[in-house]
Amino acid sequence: MSNKDFIKLALELADINGISSREEEVATYVRKQLSHFKDIKVERDNLGSIAFIKKGKAKDAPTISITAHMDEVGFMVTRIEKNGFIKFAPIGGWWGHVLLGQRLTITSSNGKEYTGVVGSTPPHILTEAQRSSVLSIDKMYIDLGTTSDKEVKDIGIKPGCMVTPTSQAFVGLDGDALIGKAFDDRISIAVGIEVLKRLEKVNHEANVILVCSTQEEVGLRGAKTSAYKWTPDVAFAVDVTIAYDMPGMEEKETKLRTGVALSLFDRSVIGNNNLVQMTEAVAKKHKIKYTFDSLPLGGTDAGTIHLTKDGVITMTLSIPSRYIHSHNSMVTVQDSLATVDLLVNFVREFNSKKLEELKYK
Ligand code: ZN
Repeated sequence: MSNKDFIKLALELADINGISSREEEVATYVRKQLSHFKDIKVERDNLGSIAFIKKGKAKDAPTISITAHMDEVGFMVTRIEKNGFIKFAPIGGWWGHVLLGQRLTITSSNGKEYTGVVGSTPPHILTEAQRSSVLSIDKMYIDLGTTSDKEVKDIGIKPGCMVTPTSQAFVGLDGDALIGKAFDDRISIAVGIEVLKRLEKVNHEANVILVCSTQEEVGLRGAKTSAYKWTPDVAFAVDVTIAYDMPGMEEKETKLRTGVALSLFDRSVIGNNNLVQMTEAVAKKHKIKYTFDSLPLGGTDAGTIHLTKDGVITMTLSIPSRYIHSHNSMVTVQDSLATVDLLVNFVREFNSKKLEELKYK
């Protein structure tokens, strides 16, 4: 796959609308991308996660899972007011600052998409106190340009409808930056698809499962059921992390264009140390750019995967991103492809002997 094909894949994935529990369009898209691989088996679980299973050639093959979440942060319609204004609640983490005056897309109960704006008060009439505080989301509303609740209800908009940022993904000036609404975590879905494509003609010993999980943004929920159903020997969660290269940020080595970030810990998991070392060795051997990452807050699917059954050897691989959880997060092609390279080489070289090296004796 050329860079151009990878960019197309990533942009298309970012543009699909799918909040937690509404990931079906993403699942369909991934299934289509991988449909021509005859040796990949597809399975689902009851929370909507979808697994693409590719067997390795070894009889006693260990299983490696690569998990990326399909859901994006968004909102749900909670109430339609008499005058047609629509109240909404966040699904996943949002900061009020990034929302006022923005466009949001409401997907109606008939599957049609409607664009509205989040109403904002003109600065002319703001009090000093209002001016210096962040408006909470429960005080916001979406305006579709209608005058009555009837108009809104007639087009099938009702409580429970999905709301997502209106933001078409695009390529930045350098041809490497990708900017769009749902790169958390669709960029990792693109990485997972690319890994399976590159492994097509590779005679690897280990089994590989790409798990596209659901409901990560509301508490790593799809990862819990999917890791129970498709329990691997070794698990990688692939997600985005903070790029520390914006003005005013503390100095950390993980930035845009520093390669794949090997996560040491976040609030949900401490990466298995043997796995972190083995993964670093693969990166070094193949001259893949990487940094070590640590996050005092936040979590990834690894947080629930590693606690499955009697424990799973797990770590997170992250793609640095600016402006996560907004209309326009930014990642780069080179960091994404570094993640692909690392995973492909890890899978190629992994076998039951290597698994023994990771295990407690
Ligand atoms: Zn994420």
